[in-house]
Amino acid sequence: IIAEAIVRGGDGGNGIVSFRHEKYISRGGPDGGGGGYGGSLFLKASCKVRDLSLIKQRKRFVAESGSYGDSCRKHGRKGKDLTILVPVGTVVVVKADGMERLIADLTTEDEEVLVVRGGRGGLGNARFTTAINQAPEISTKGEPGEEQHLILKLKLLTDICIVGPPNSGKSTLLQAISQARPRIAPYPFSTRDPVLGAIQNDRNDFIVAEIPALVKGSHLGKGLGNDFLCHVERTRVVVYLLDGASSSILEDLDTLNKELILYNSDLLCKPRIIAVNKADLPEAQLRLHEIKQSLSGTDSPIFYISAASGFGISELTTKAMEMLEGMSKVKEAASSHGPRQIKNEVDEGHLTSPAIFRPKPRQAKQ
Ligand code: GDP
Ligand code: MG
Repeated sequence: IIAEAIVRGGDGGNGIVSFRHEKYISRGGPDGGGGGYGGSLFLKASCKVRDLSLIKQRKRFVAESGSYGDSCRKHGRKGKDLTILVPVGTVVVVKADGMERLIADLTTEDEEVLVVRGGRGGLGNARFTTAINQAPEISTKGEPGEEQHLILKLKLLTDICIVGPPNSGKSTLLQAISQARPRIAPYPFSTRDPVLGAIQNDRNDFIVAEIPALVKGSHLGKGLGNDFLCHVERTRVVVYLLDGASSSILEDLDTLNKELILYNSDLLCKPRIIAVNKADLPEAQLRLHEIKQSLSGTDSPIFYISAASGFGISELTTKAMEMLEGMSKVKEAASSHGPRQIKNEVDEGHLTSPAIFRPKPRQAKQ
């Protein structure tokens, strides 16, 4: 979910010192060309990429350097730009001097951001010709490419996010309503990563996600931690899935609410549905009346379902889809979270003049 990488633009090519040197042409003047620009490095959101694993593996990305200049005043070739594909929903942060700065939030397909520029090419000696110095032996080196330490965070863009305590049946529900095949197991924390699925009605497709279980202290990193709570920030409808067989269902609900508030108090403003699962179990059925009474105070729609048998599932999904269709699209929902500073501010301080490398003066002939 989080990957770090060092990215670097290509170095600019060096300029060269060269003099025209041809048969029958005496005193050919300086003709060293400048070096080419280094390639820049971009990040681009793509639905074809699912996670940040490539970036986690490679860790370092460098765009191509510019070529050296050549004689006859030929400019070096520009280095190729490098575009790294990242999943849609990737947040791009630059880390510098212990500070983290958000530079982009890639929430739509093909959205692109320039992260580092390539260095400028150096100047060839042809550029240093003056009235006084007709045969300069000076050229400049290309600038090094810009380098940045990037932190990429994947915040899933989903329509529905299923949250709940361990073992409440989140994976079973996701499997029942979508084609996703998460791991289902009768022990807590069987799901360690968010799992995505899709559901459709005749008008739209919706993305549903299950995130690993939330427990008391998740927002502080307990259980499987709070890495997953960021996905709830970007979802449009939250489904609280409670275990109907649990003897402390109200406390479970309370814990969920608290964890979400403590992570980000805006999360409670999200439209939500409460689903009480395992309604097929006798212990749940016995307490159903009691549960209904104690939940009657909440203003969210409540469903009693059995993810395993399919009871109540279609009502639940129909309600969720209705709520979604009455809302704005994912992109708008996502952009309402905090300031989106998509600005290419990375080029500051990049325009300092390059150092000039002068050859040692020739020894005067005696
Ligand atoms: P998660 O940890 O919330 O993802 O829960 P799982 O989906 O892995 O389910 C935990 C356990 O509860 C598994 O043994 C499931 O078979 C069981 N389970 C899930 N839904 C139901 C249900 O509706 N009825 C019954 N009886 N068991 C269920
Ligand atoms: Mg699970």
